[in-house]
Formats: sequence, C-alpha cells, structure tokens
Amino acid sequence: MSENGNSPVGAGGSSPSAGPAVPTLPLAPRNDGPQPGGSSFHEMWRELRPIGRHPDSGGYRRYAWTGADLECRDWFEEQARARGLAYEVDRNGNQWAWLGDPAAGDAVVTGSHLDSVPDGGAFDGPLGVVSSFAALDELRARGTDLARPLAVVNFGDEEGARFGLACVGSRLTAGALTTEQAHRLTDADGTSLPRAMEAAGYDPEALGADPERLARIGAFVELHVEQGRALDLTGDPVGIASAIWPHGRWRFDFRGEANHAGTTRLADRHDPMLPYAETVLAARREAGHTGAVATFGKIAVEPNGVNAIPSLVRGWLDSRAEDQTALDTVVGGIEKAARAHADAHGVGLDVVRESFTPVVEFDHGLRDELARILGKDTGITVPVLGTGAGHDAGILSGRIPTAMLFVRNPTGVSHSPAEFAAEDDCVAGVLALADVLEGLARR
Ligand SMILES: [Zn+2]
Repeated sequence: MSENGNSPVGAGGSSPSAGPAVPTLPLAPRNDGPQPGGSSFHEMWRELRPIGRHPDSGGYRRYAWTGADLECRDWFEEQARARGLAYEVDRNGNQWAWLGDPAAGDAVVTGSHLDSVPDGGAFDGPLGVVSSFAALDELRARGTDLARPLAVVNFGDEEGARFGLACVGSRLTAGALTTEQAHRLTDADGTSLPRAMEAAGYDPEALGADPERLARIGAFVELHVEQGRALDLTGDPVGIASAIWPHGRWRFDFRGEANHAGTTRLADRHDPMLPYAETVLAARREAGHTGAVATFGKIAVEPNGVNAIPSLVRGWLDSRAEDQTALDTVVGGIEKAARAHADAHGVGLDVVRESFTPVVEFDHGLRDELARILGKDTGITVPVLGTGAGHDAGILSGRIPTAMLFVRNPTGVSHSPAEFAAEDDCVAGVLALADVLEGLARR
C-alpha cells in the first residue's frame, strides 16, 4: 500500500503504561480525540510496514520468535496499551488486548497473525490485526455502547515458516497440538520451539490446551486479505468466508528401470518420467473438470543423472476442492490416469496419502449474522466464498463459532511481495469489521 492521504495523529502519544484492568466503552477520548478507524489504520500500517522487510526481495521474513517477530509483538503491545486495553500473553504465546472484562464471557474476538512465510507479502495476517485495532477505534469514534467484552488477538506462528507446522498458537490453544508434539518441533538450525520461546523471553513451560480461554469466547471473526481473485471477479471489496476447502497431499512413486540414456532403445525402456509427465497433465485436466485445484509442485528423481533413464520418479500432488466429493473425484481421476499410463510404460506405481484436512465449515449462524449486519444499511448482498488456504479461524472453528471476512486482492497473489490490497479496500474492510463487531456486541 502506498503511504499518502490521511496523516492521523499517532496512537502512542498519551499511552498509559498500564491500562485499567477492565476498560469499557466508550473509552475516555485521548488528548487528540478518538480517531475513526479509517485514519488510524494508515498510521498503524506505516509503523508496521518496515519491520522484517528484506531490502533485496521486498518480502517479509517475520518468522516465529525471531527478532522481526518480536518487533511485531512489541508493536502489538504498544497498540494495546495506547488504547488503554488490558494486555496479556496466554500460555501459548498468543497476544491479547481486551476491552471489557474477559471473565464476563461470551466475548467477541477479532484478530489474525503477524508472522510471515519466507519473503511473504505485507497483508497476509497483519491486515487482520491492524484492521482489528482500527475497528475498535472506529467503534470508539462512534461511541458504541458494548454489552459484550471485545478482544484483539495475535496468534503466534501461524505460517509455520520456522518449525514446519502452521497455526501452532491456535492449534495448541484448541488442543489440536499436544504439549509433547509442540516440544518436539525444531527449526532448520536444530533449535526447538521451547528454546526459541525462551530465547525470546517467553516461558514455554505452560504450552498446552486452553479450554478455559476458549470457553469465554462467544465468537471469533478473522479479517484476512483474500488469497485468490473471487472478489476481484465479483467487483466487491469485502466478502464472507463459507468454508475452507478440504485439502491433502499425495505422493506418487513411479518405479521404472535405470538404464543408459544413449544405448537403450526406446522400445526397451521402462521410463517412469513418461507416466509422471502424463499424470501432471491429467491432474490439470481433472482439476479443470471439477472446479478443483491440483498441483504437482515437488519432484524427486533417482538417480537424477542427465544421461540416465530414471529408476524412480516421485511426485507430490497437492489438491483442494470445494467439497469432499469433488476432491475424491479429482484425486481418484488423477490416480486412475496415473495407473493407466504407468501400465502402458511397464512402470510400477504406489500412491500414498501423506496428509489430509477435511472441509472446515464456518459457523452458519454466525456467517448469516455477518451477512445480515453488512447488508442491513446498504441492501448489498456481500459475497460468500470458500477458500483453499488454512487459517487460525479454521483451527478454532471446531471449538467456537468462527467467521472470516476477506478483503479484495486484485491480483490474487499471496505469500509473495506482490500481495496487495488497495487502500480504499483496506478501509472498507475496517468499516465492515467495525460494523460486525458493533452488530455482535452492541448493548
Ligand atoms: Zn494468514
């Protein structure tokens, strides 16, 4: 996002060093008066923008518990304290900023994550956290009287760039990752997650499920940049998530016969590269028929010699589809094609499913409530769309009512420095989130 236009007053000026334990809305205005969410968004975006940005690639390297991540976390704490919100870090290192008494229960929580993939974009994660604080500012500017506690959360290690597992903070909280499993997570340098947390000044001893915390939450709404072009195609700045598509990874082992690339007659070969190549094309075809996606993005070849017919070609398929039936159809079709081509070339084939995540349906009642709130004044029907990407909201959806808002990404590019959302659309996202929080939590 370019930095122009609004020049809001900084949020940090009159920060109390520690906020009241149970602040309520409307908060006493700061000296500079309450900032509407659209203008405070720009200020926060500008502050966060340089942190962890690599000068060569222009991409972000905010890996869990590294210096860049800690700078982002400091920024989060500053934002919380500047607003007089009650700041806390939970047992799994997730950061919370509370407005109202958490113990009152039925809280409305919003937020996302601040970490990134290697050379990630600026928006995936931070857009949700910044928009959450801006939405609170917007509610304060409106003078909204709240009946339910509100919180902003920054879930730790969402991308899994360092320890290889995504959504560690929310998985631990939800009990979807055990303490023992978390303790075994290790980065490429051999540093374990507990040691990394310790080095960052956090206590890893308490890592584990946090049912009491989840029991206090009545709704979680995550705003996120769209990682696709559905909203660009419908012409809408904001959409509501329906579900996270079921997805999985399959390993295809084509076993042939290594031989000399110069002396072996074509008719005598058992070359596994040929059925593999046919299978890649079949995957594209099958996905096209079913509206799914299917990608062979990783391959290993043995012996991997330029003058040798391979003995083994191992390809990894990633496939995702709108529902289980479509996913079964596309993967079944690819496997059938792979077997036929393997047979035709006298090559063996083993297919192994290495991982699978079933469909995550977001809470229908909450989703419909969001649609009603966002359509109330405008009469506009906000598009409801599925996504092929995983999120903390997906992890939590099995435990508490969750929903997601997506902000238009005109190119659809994500996990890349080219990831983008226009300023106007970011502000539309802030205002939509503010409407949702107000609609859910207003007295
Ligand atoms: Zn994300």
